[in-house]
Amino acid sequence: GFKCGIVGLPNVGKSTLFNALTQTAAAEAANYPFCTIEPNVGEVGVPDDRLQKLATISKSQQIIPTRLTFVDIAGLVRGASKGEGLGNQFLSHIREVDAIAYVLRCFEDDDITHVEGRIDPLADAETVETELMLADLESCERRTLNLEKRAKSGDKEAKAQLAVIDKALELLRAGKPARHAVLTDEERRAFEMLQLLTAKPVLYVCNVDEGSAADGNAHSQKVAEAAAEQGAQSVVISAKIESELAGLEDDEREAFLSDLGLKEPGLNRLIRAGYRLLNLVTYFTVGPKEARAWTITVGTRAPQAAGVIHTDFEKGFIRAETIGYDDYISLGGETGAKEAGKMRLEGKEYVVKDGDVMHFRFAN
Ligand code: GDP
Repeated sequence: GFKCGIVGLPNVGKSTLFNALTQTAAAEAANYPFCTIEPNVGEVGVPDDRLQKLATISKSQQIIPTRLTFVDIAGLVRGASKGEGLGNQFLSHIREVDAIAYVLRCFEDDDITHVEGRIDPLADAETVETELMLADLESCERRTLNLEKRAKSGDKEAKAQLAVIDKALELLRAGKPARHAVLTDEERRAFEMLQLLTAKPVLYVCNVDEGSAADGNAHSQKVAEAAAEQGAQSVVISAKIESELAGLEDDEREAFLSDLGLKEPGLNRLIRAGYRLLNLVTYFTVGPKEARAWTITVGTRAPQAAGVIHTDFEKGFIRAETIGYDDYISLGGETGAKEAGKMRLEGKEYVVKDGDVMHFRFAN
């Protein structure tokens, strides 16, 4: 599955947020049959209002959301790239995730020490990212020597890698993350093989005080502006509120949310933002037993999408009976959509769209 790492300086609210995420998932565990929770890894259901609507129309007994994994990566302090704190261990954890959520402290509280002695989320983001850039810089420089040798003796793969390493180095030396590299499609493959930490997509999570959960505050505003400038995403959340929400029953939760002027838990927005960040889309399978969501990356073709359910579906793929989400809802379900001629038979080249309701035909 896809993994999003939660990263940030100490005392910014990472654990509070992570625990709220996994507690909520645990509380609703009945809906998540494969929910595995390790100390710092949690699988959460991706909230999607469409599932309930599909389930109502098709009278499905069960709703099964698709899942996303969050990893709480502690130990980032100034100097981590040089082995301070948990150093290398922490870097290897970041290497394993597909995207990074930077938790930034945007709440004031004199009782909770800030490691740098001041509340400045943008400076914190820079501190954190600098450690990752230093680690990338070192790994690029280390690899360059070896690649140069191989390139000299005619190794084409090494040449291709050197070209992209140069692009990455130029950025890193200028204090910019590798994800800003402008690459051709061919270069992208070589670039991905470098597995640079700062090449991963990032999301800024502003942890604000409880009173600012609905609209954010001056700190989170600055982060939002900086994120927008880089074409990055930011989310405002109050980890404290989320941890309180996680302990409540459904009806209490609704009341608490409306008191705070919130439409839904901030975690829902965080999870969805993580999902978008990873370039993921959802298709559905719907029947009397269950209405279920499945995750694929943007651009996935029908056989590979079927393979997410079972490898046999991919191997023996014949075609996919497909109904667009809006048609499914407005025509009252599968029968209505069929009668209106809105059920399409899609083949091997079909690129699955977000919201498609699919039924795969396959041969064993
Ligand atoms: P981590 O080191 O980043 O994992 O931070 P923690 O989640 O352990 O939080 C550090 C401290 O800050 C704890 O005492 C939390 O209760 C507190 N904290 C977390 N979020 C908030 C918040 O939004 N407001 C306030 N006032 N305190 C918070």
